[in-house]
Amino acid sequence: MAACKELTANLVHDFISSVDTILCDCDGVIWKNNDSIPGAAEALKKLRLKGKRIFFVTNNSTKSRKQYIEKLLNLGFEAYPEEIICTAFAAASYLKHSLKLNGKVYLIGSIGMAEELDLMGIPYFGIGPDPVKSLDMAEWAALPIDNEVKAVLVGFDEHLSYIKLIKAGTYLNDPECAFVATNEDLRYPLGGKIMIPGTGVIVGAVKQAAQREPVVLGKPSKYLFDSIMQSFEGVTPERTVMIGDRLSTDISMGRTCGLKTLLVETGIDTRVDAKENQKSNSIERQKMVPDYFITSLADLGKTL
Ligand SMILES: [Mg+2]
Repeated sequence: MAACKELTANLVHDFISSVDTILCDCDGVIWKNNDSIPGAAEALKKLRLKGKRIFFVTNNSTKSRKQYIEKLLNLGFEAYPEEIICTAFAAASYLKHSLKLNGKVYLIGSIGMAEELDLMGIPYFGIGPDPVKSLDMAEWAALPIDNEVKAVLVGFDEHLSYIKLIKAGTYLNDPECAFVATNEDLRYPLGGKIMIPGTGVIVGAVKQAAQREPVVLGKPSKYLFDSIMQSFEGVTPERTVMIGDRLSTDISMGRTCGLKTLLVETGIDTRVDAKENQKSNSIERQKMVPDYFITSLADLGKTL
């Protein structure tokens, strides 16, 4: 069982000395929407000065690595392309290197995902609006189908439509057609009165249409950490910490991979949520308990 203790100033030094690699979630940890979280950049800078290797590990599939670098630099963070572990890149990499895909991708996704597929030289189509034009089912039944599609890739798509669900479900009727999803986060953490459905809602719709389960690459899946270990020498679970604001993704992935885990309270979840999970008898909820929690990255930075 994870300790779920506050990372107080007297514990920071030993904790930081016990890791070489830092996996840092983005939304709710280093930024909120388009604003950086105060003190986050300084904290990461101090960790770099102590020789720590940093990776930005995010489920959000709307941006490519290039777009993430631009955002990080604009918000005053130091960052390098190889440090960006985002699901748009992971998806293209998975299709190319793990599946060795020989065919086209039907993409329900973003421009950022398309950019990563282009960089890997993977042919795809499906991006952008594809609205229903009539209520005539005979027209739907006559939709053109491309026999070269060998995978359906699903991420965040602001143009999700009924026609896209018909197409994705049809391609996935072929058991040889791969089904890959970037992540299953159900809501965007924007706050306020409006609820913004996340990629998980889109993946859920495709799953129901296809009557199949996808390979999911984002947290809490192990895929992102496994791919870091494969690509970078010297990264070990014992000497890596996952810092995140969401218990069900960041902390759960960290626990599943055998990493140290630190919850920051600048995003979705708080110590109260973590303690509630700790009290539960459910194995799933026990995975959503961090080793430590701290108010913010800024608080960590102050003691370094
Ligand atoms: Mg987050």
